Amino acid sequence: MNKSFIDSHAHIYLKDFSNQLGAIIDNSINNNVEKILMPNINLKTVNPMKKLSLKYEGRCFSMLGLHPCYVEGNYEKEINEIFDFFDSKVIAIGEIGLDYYQSEKTFTNQLRAFELQCEFAIDKKLPIVIHTRNSIDESINVIKRYSNKNITGVFHCFTGNLKQANQIIDLGFKIGVGGILTFKNSDLKNVISKIDLSSILLETDSPYLSPEPKRGKVNEPSNIKYVAEKLSEILSVPIELVAKVTSQNVNNLFDLSS
Ligand SMILES: [Zn+2]
Repeated sequence: MNKSFIDSHAHIYLKDFSNQLGAIIDNSINNNVEKILMPNINLKTVNPMKKLSLKYEGRCFSMLGLHPCYVEGNYEKEINEIFDFFDSKVIAIGEIGLDYYQSEKTFTNQLRAFELQCEFAIDKKLPIVIHTRNSIDESINVIKRYSNKNITGVFHCFTGNLKQANQIIDLGFKIGVGGILTFKNSDLKNVISKIDLSSILLETDSPYLSPEPKRGKVNEPSNIKYVAEKLSEILSVPIELVAKVTSQNVNNLFDLSS
């Protein structure tokens, strides 16, 4: 069995990487990362992301969306301008969702921006990639309202409890697992140990949340192996099986054929 991974969530188009992008990609290839999925952040990141997906066609894939931390007063206009870049190469709508770590004043706009983008995804029959910091229950409630509309996707960087994980899985969504799984003080291990591998996507969230033993450094897709190793240990399955099933899960959720 070969051991190749897909990083389902990495912002490698950000300036953090611009000088050493070639090395980051080479490093990912040398560490069996076959594909990298890139969630967008705001209007400014669309062009660098698209450029990267053209340069590394078949390896790096683009999404479109406005990240909840970047929802401002003019969010409707910005979302429309982002979606003007829509084409057949876009694999998902993301990164969208709710960040309730932000000021409460932004919550109403965040929610409306999230709903608008869910509706766009439903219209385009694309999966969504959701950010749910301090807002898992609220995000689940939004998805429930669209559950008769064939909406699907992933709760990226999941840190919730088992009840929330099961609700997400029942809604037909996947659980995105990254570096936090390797943190000693995190309870996530106990939750993930009770979840079937068929519901899990691996991710790095580069440049954020580097796994142990790289914690505190700039994260990059090659570090996905540390998350996979931890998952293999927690679920008591071979790492080759982790690689195979999580890659299948990504390919079932996203159309990476183009
Ligand atoms: Zn992200």
